[in-house]
Amino acid sequence: MATPKEEIDRLRAQLEEYNRRYYLDNDPVVSDRQFDELMRRLQDLEKQYPQYDDPNSPTRRVGSDLTNRFESVRHRYPMMSLSNTYSLEELREFYDRVREEAPEADFVCELKFDGTAISLTYEHGRLLRAETRGDGTVGDDVTANVRTIRSVPLVLTGDDYPDDFEMRGEIYMPRAEFARLNAEREEIGEVPFANPRNAAAGTLKLQNSSVVAARRLDCFLYAMAGENLPFNSHWDALNKARTWGFRISDHMRRCRTWEEIEAFIRETDSLREGLPYATDGAVVKVNSYDIQRRLGATAKAPRWAVAYKFKAEEALTELLSVEFSVGRTGAVTPVANLTPVLLAGTVVKRASLHNADQIALLDLRIGDHVYVEKGGEIIPKITGVELSMRPAESRPLEFVRTCPQCGAPLERYEGEAAWYCPNSSGCTPQIVGRIVHFISRKAMNIEGIGEETVGLFFEQGLVRDAADLYDLAPERIAALPRLGAKSAANIMASLERSRSVPFARVLYALGIRFVGEATARILAAHFKSLDALAAASEEELAQVDEVGKTIARSVREYFADSVNRRIIERLRAAGLQFETVGEERLSDALAGLSIVISGTFERHSREELKRLIEQHGGRNLAAVSGNADYLLAGTGVGPAKLAKATKLGVRMLSEEEFERMIGERHDEAVVQPTLF
Ligand code: NAD
Repeated sequence: MATPKEEIDRLRAQLEEYNRRYYLDNDPVVSDRQFDELMRRLQDLEKQYPQYDDPNSPTRRVGSDLTNRFESVRHRYPMMSLSNTYSLEELREFYDRVREEAPEADFVCELKFDGTAISLTYEHGRLLRAETRGDGTVGDDVTANVRTIRSVPLVLTGDDYPDDFEMRGEIYMPRAEFARLNAEREEIGEVPFANPRNAAAGTLKLQNSSVVAARRLDCFLYAMAGENLPFNSHWDALNKARTWGFRISDHMRRCRTWEEIEAFIRETDSLREGLPYATDGAVVKVNSYDIQRRLGATAKAPRWAVAYKFKAEEALTELLSVEFSVGRTGAVTPVANLTPVLLAGTVVKRASLHNADQIALLDLRIGDHVYVEKGGEIIPKITGVELSMRPAESRPLEFVRTCPQCGAPLERYEGEAAWYCPNSSGCTPQIVGRIVHFISRKAMNIEGIGEETVGLFFEQGLVRDAADLYDLAPERIAALPRLGAKSAANIMASLERSRSVPFARVLYALGIRFVGEATARILAAHFKSLDALAAASEEELAQVDEVGKTIARSVREYFADSVNRRIIERLRAAGLQFETVGEERLSDALAGLSIVISGTFERHSREELKRLIEQHGGRNLAAVSGNADYLLAGTGVGPAKLAKATKLGVRMLSEEEFERMIGERHDEAVVQPTLF
């Protein structure tokens, strides 16, 4: 048996490590529930044995997200954590304690958004700085990245905001964006994010703001900080902040009695599955600033607020079998087949297992009863095994050693958890997968061909790589089952159109491992031609913003392969764009953003503005729609356009703001730009 001191030391070291994996790597190794249980055990031991007290214990400090990639800034007011509980009785104790000390207290109940904390400083109504929580005292300055988030106002509306104050809130990744991003990451062979929280936190710490912009983070604000704020309560402050343009959740309620608080929590629990963003609980805060001050704080969290966390919904079911599928990059992914079970409103039959390490870590066996959890992902995860139900004769599950499709012995790359089939030129799902990727909408956008048609072409011996597509004869296509002359003509026309697809998309279409859409754009903008990219050394590649060693190595390996080089030469001969042509790409400042222009402008013609949008990586939209990010509005904007933009929450941009975004203007704003 370990002594209490030994257990305390072990728990501290373990929690430090989990904190590091969670806050810095954005790759947690245990569930939040498990983490919270260990933390609770450590708190209990420290209470029982105060002689082992240590101000550096993880019970006393917030887990730090500080990196050395950003400038660090000292917070004016500390950014704290929240005490949390999974039990309604403990929440009730908090309520009773507050009531005892301040019988007049009322409470504000809110959602606990599952993202990453941010502090926004506003001076004279303009966003000055955005900081992460860091270690609670000092945070990372992520202003450039936060500026790309649509719901963060750069300039406030109204005239009654304090001259100098901070808004605190949560940056999160909407579920739909999380699903899109993870699908893309899996497609290009990158490890998917474990949950939307990690995806948001990881994105916020990227070095290239245009990649951040393309990922569509969002933000809710939930607190105000400052000196001499013109409010006496949290409720009033948030409601007022809403009128200045801050995004404050509507799901927030002032409660006085315990029954009201309990009702809020029950409602929230049933509502949260349907929300477009992840929440992991509710937060109950004392409303009055005076009472908040009276109650004070510990070194880690305020005494006037507590988070009630929901247990992630889980179900217990039987593991029937494990299938191994092979992707375009050759990565072999295990997928579990389960006895169907109801979980959070849907029937679950399959669960992802990610990789061999996870199977080993869980010591999974066929016939085991396993816990499945939904963590915001499309397909649920197996999180544990119910050992008490394990069949006596079960044996550990073996990960396949050879490719389930072509039989080649699998390989593992250094530092990676996945196993790969190395037979890239002879393994059917890899060959077909690469061509399907090549023709996909975001790549060459070849219409009239889908996965099935590619499979058919492959079976018939018509294509083995992307270059073969350009050698297809229309008569051959027309003769195939389910196709015919009309389809053949469509396919030929689409292939013809693909010859003018810009270089960045051609580069993405090549399907180089780890080179997703955003990376392809960055590489194309930097190197300007395929030949320059192919000639770049690993060092040169790694020096490009957001590229790093892994991508650099992958690009080098791709061009070093003679099979790939042959395909490239045939694609060149087919007339694809291998260079950035026409308008010179000036920057990626507007990458991922769609802009509608309306009205007339002081310093640019509309044509000039359109060209600038494209030169900085943005997209021109003809009409205001849900796809638009900004309405670049001059004088005389049509009232219908304005009304539609307001309704859809499309943000307005003045000419000055636009100039600042693309780096044409560096002065401070003097006019109040038109913002909702
Ligand atoms: P927390 O996330 O439990 O609570 C504090 C945070 O809640 C604030 O910083 C803020 O960002 C957020 N928040 C969301 N909505 C809010 C609202 N309406 N009002 C106020 N704050 C709101 O605490 P933490 O200190 O950030 O993180 C600790 C938690 O993170 C642990 O309890 C655990 O669940 C998880 N964690 C998990 C691991 C792991 O390995 N799985 C490791 C470290 C931490």
